[in-house]
Amino acid sequence: MKNNLQNNNVSIEKKIDWKVIQTSMKEKIGQDIYESWLKKIELIEEHNNYVLISVSTRFIRDWITSRYLDQILQIIKKYKKNIIRIEFVIENKNNIKSKDFVDDLKKSNDNSNIDNVSFIKDSFLQYNRIDPNKNFDNFVTGSSNKLAFEASKKVSEDISHYNPLYLYGGVGMGKTHLLNSIGLSLKDKNKVMFISAERFMYQFVKSIKSNEMVKFKEYFRNTDILLIDDIQFMNGKEAMQEEFFHTFNALIEKGSQIIVSADRPPNKLTRIQERIKSRFSGGLVVDIQNTDYELRYKIIKSKTDELELFYSNKISITKEIQEFISQEIRTSIRELVGALNRIISFSRIYNKVPSISEVRVILKDLLNLSENKVTIDFIQTIVCKFFKISKNEMLSPRRSRYLVRPRQTAIYLSKMLTSKSLPEIGRAFSNRDHTTVIHSVKTIDKLRKEDNELNINIDSLKNKILYNQENEI
Ligand code: ADP
Ligand code: MG
Repeated sequence: MKNNLQNNNVSIEKKIDWKVIQTSMKEKIGQDIYESWLKKIELIEEHNNYVLISVSTRFIRDWITSRYLDQILQIIKKYKKNIIRIEFVIENKNNIKSKDFVDDLKKSNDNSNIDNVSFIKDSFLQYNRIDPNKNFDNFVTGSSNKLAFEASKKVSEDISHYNPLYLYGGVGMGKTHLLNSIGLSLKDKNKVMFISAERFMYQFVKSIKSNEMVKFKEYFRNTDILLIDDIQFMNGKEAMQEEFFHTFNALIEKGSQIIVSADRPPNKLTRIQERIKSRFSGGLVVDIQNTDYELRYKIIKSKTDELELFYSNKISITKEIQEFISQEIRTSIRELVGALNRIISFSRIYNKVPSISEVRVILKDLLNLSENKVTIDFIQTIVCKFFKISKNEMLSPRRSRYLVRPRQTAIYLSKMLTSKSLPEIGRAFSNRDHTTVIHSVKTIDKLRKEDNELNINIDSLKNKILYNQENEI
């Protein structure tokens, strides 16, 4: 590799050795991805500043383009630095100019059937990623999700006990985690297909376009366990619902297990065929309810332990913080875990356990409740106190220097710490124009970068505003 690089510095360019590129792709992008997507790429022509490569379908081309093209280009550039872009040909279209390759193509077309099947499988498998880190063991249960958890376990132990199993609940409540856990525990002994309704749809459309419907049907009907996530996204797609309905029936008939998740109960699904809804209702329907404090605390505790193990005890989050997060972040488990991760990042970066007021700042955007309690009036009060001016002075039209900066600061903080619009903020400052608000925000933003003392003052004001809030409640 070094040699190649050195050669590149001399003006005589080497021809690209595709084998070398392949090895490098395998190393850099990973064996799995390489096997599934990149192995079959062929180098067709090498030009001065671009290469022409071939893949077998548009779908593969699009997939590679959207995910790996940058990396591939970087790899090729290492060997030939003039290359600035990659162009594709689709083999099947027979639009390859070079004669040699047409012969090659003929050869490869002879076993195109077999190839296509494996391609289809490979591509479906891409959506079939089961995450080993989302399993039954690390799914924390409480009264809101116990039933869903138990039903999922039951299905994993005793296939076709409830068929289908339909889990529903709000965003970030653990539906995908449960579906994934079911897939994980059944995949060793069964053919498991885990796909989101959106992906199913995407694949369905692709298969129609590329005349591969037969394979699509075969593939889905051949599975023992079908896990379909977020079925609500199937709404309105009539042709796909038709196909899904038949797949569903075929699977139930042959004794395969189906598990479906959605954000609402079957009868509330909109623009989904009645017969599909009634099939869903025919199995076991279980909801995951919103979390209560106990469950949130349990989850935070278990995630903290997990992370401490991972970072070998380098982080410690106080019980107070754990309680605070469990109390405040109620929207979803995803946000709850996200909040914890943020605090852990903070404590790792600054090498200290944050105080509650720091936690409030770190999680500001997640703390909807407290945000609503921060009013512009309150910000004005705190800022006036800090700069030792009266509120009348702050709101007056006077432009004395000693009033301008505090006013701008209060406007700036109102923009940062409340969700009020620019005109609303303007109104709260004696009907100032929204352009004045923009100007103040820009000025303070700029000053913060230049003036360290002001920057510190603003941070301390911010903490005061967010922190004092707690005392006021
Ligand atoms: P949904 O599919 O309902 O939107 P997810 O399953 O994606 O939600 O869950 C969001 C995040 O919260 C994931 O990281 C998941 O692992 C985690 N999570 C959800 N419920 C639990 C739980 N009961 N115990 C542990 N982690 C959970
Ligand atoms: Mg989900």
